[in-house]
Amino acid sequence: MNINKLLRKNIATLKPYSSARSEFKGEASVFLDANENPFNAPFNRYPDPLQSKLKASISAVKGVPTENIFLGNGSDEPIDLLYRAFCEPRIDNVVAIDPTYGMYKVCADINDVEYRKVLLQENFDFTADEMLKATDKNSKIIWLCSPNNPTGNSLNGQEIEKTLKYFHGIVVLDEAYIDFSSQPSFLKTLAQHPNLVILQTLSKAWGSAAIRLGMAFASPEIIQVLSNIKYPYNINILTQEQALRAIENKKQVEEWVRILISERTLLIEFLKQLPLIKHIYPTDANFVLVRVEDANAIYQYLVKNSIVVRNRSTISLCAGCIRITVGTHEENAALLASLRACTT
Ligand SMILES: *Cc1c(COP(=O)(O)O)cnc(C)c1O
Repeated sequence: MNINKLLRKNIATLKPYSSARSEFKGEASVFLDANENPFNAPFNRYPDPLQSKLKASISAVKGVPTENIFLGNGSDEPIDLLYRAFCEPRIDNVVAIDPTYGMYKVCADINDVEYRKVLLQENFDFTADEMLKATDKNSKIIWLCSPNNPTGNSLNGQEIEKTLKYFHGIVVLDEAYIDFSSQPSFLKTLAQHPNLVILQTLSKAWGSAAIRLGMAFASPEIIQVLSNIKYPYNINILTQEQALRAIENKKQVEEWVRILISERTLLIEFLKQLPLIKHIYPTDANFVLVRVEDANAIYQYLVKNSIVVRNRSTISLCAGCIRITVGTHEENAALLASLRACTT
């Protein structure tokens, strides 16, 4: 697989910006190279543009070498960068499962790249053949998300493998919810798949949505391209330091995940007993998609009770559906109590 051939020409030939902090690597005590203010330490200094310390820490918990790791301002940054690296506006296209996470389409629109949707099956799974059928010679990226948002299910692993094997472009597998899943991550298979990009994030299981840290795992060639085109100092020092603390907190995160998975089971059990819930879809994530008689009415009713869920009823295959995030025991109890008292 030749990454260079897939890249847009301007990106393949790009001479990346070389910052003061990346040009000088080594030991020094007097820094007069970056026009920084010598006062107001530590915030006066530009942060490490390659986030070496943070990547070393992520490398240790994920079991992935640092040269396979890209860090972004949320997952949204690598999503956008992948378009900018591989997709020529108005010429290239991408193919995505439908429904799925909304940012893939928004970034396609911003970059003026054709976005082809392939409707999921009734059980919300997909096949490699359906995806491949939608591709042509200008298809550069296939977007997969497992567990998928907003449906909650994991995609069939063999079909993901097959997509990776037969598609000659980039396959992005968004694993934002992998920590809640019964299925294994594809991270272990990274070395076998030169066209695979895995997205993960600190925003969900790691409880750190506020600091904006997304991770992309891929071949060193793909990682190098993303690093070449990102803003030089894309991860600020507050985020880098807080992310290091979050990762040291791994035991706490595992405890949160255990609690949320058990709360998810409880929540589903009680939702099943409510006549206004018409269907509960299987979930491998920290949310559950349910079908009700009148999603708009239920949504408004809950808002009046000071509870906000996500109305997904206008999304493909999700007519009548609301998406409920698993909260604390008390929050879930408040939701159930409201639904039990609901007469709409
Ligand atoms: C929440 C979510 C993300 C996280 O995005 P961040 O920018 O990292 O907060 C990514 N992908 C999916 C499918 C999500 O649902």
